Amino acid sequence: MLPSSLVKIQNIAMIFHSAEGETVALKDFSLEIQHGEFISMVGPSGCGKSTLLNILAGLLKPTSGSVFIKNQKVNAPTFQVGYMPQSDQLFEWRTIWQNVLLGLEVQKKVNAKTEEAAARLLKRYGLVDFKNAYPSQLSGGMRQRAALIRTLAISPEILLLDEAFSALDYQTRLVVADEVKQIIVSENKTAILVTHDISEAISMADRVVVFSRRPGSVKNIHTITLSCQGNTPLKRREAVEFKDYFQKIWKELDIHV
Ligand code: ADP
Ligand code: MG
Repeated sequence: MLPSSLVKIQNIAMIFHSAEGETVALKDFSLEIQHGEFISMVGPSGCGKSTLLNILAGLLKPTSGSVFIKNQKVNAPTFQVGYMPQSDQLFEWRTIWQNVLLGLEVQKKVNAKTEEAAARLLKRYGLVDFKNAYPSQLSGGMRQRAALIRTLAISPEILLLDEAFSALDYQTRLVVADEVKQIIVSENKTAILVTHDISEAISMADRVVVFSRRPGSVKNIHTITLSCQGNTPLKRREAVEFKDYFQKIWKELDIHV
């Protein structure tokens, strides 16, 4: 018997109603994700990527269709999913340290061990000196790192990252991407990364899912196989096949400039 998929997205449709009328954000969206996979999602702006992550995180109920995680229907947020939304959603009245511990607090998992792990992440991401600072005192990139640490600190089984690295400068972005991938692989987690950066998508993922224009559905799925030494996102960028994937995905995105 085949092992059942970790995440099953079945025929999702999402319709938003507002004063201006209705917006069909997602339509006939189906996808299965296996344990340990790293999935990147790319698609034109407004095609429903963030909406899909909100549904996967249990924050939004789809108009029709269902999501199953470990064969359990998703109806509300669960501890096994760590979500880093597109806006960092740091609490301005809490220090960086208090923000980082928030997820652990909610889960009643603040103890010497988890605090030490969180402190290690702060150090690694260069935020130790800002432990007692407030979010408003940080740059966009630093805020994003703090939000990422908060998500990683709860050590979720499934990580949802919405444009997680977009506010980081290019150098930091490459380093952080390598580290996040390393954490996912070494801790045998599953990740879904939404990004507008095609190179980032390819460099990190086992599969890249390309969305159609709104209403978003799966336009194509690319299984990424690269011949390169080492499997870090940085190394993967050097593979000869890299630019072929880039060209194909770029064409599929159909962005008119
Ligand atoms: P993406 O992340 O791919 O850029 P979104 O998922 O944020 O796209 O949005 C998809 C579409 O749904 C957009 O047209 C957006 O304006 C609309 N939308 C998203 N959230 C809401 C909401 N809460 N109410 C009404 N419309 C929404
Ligand atoms: Mg979005």
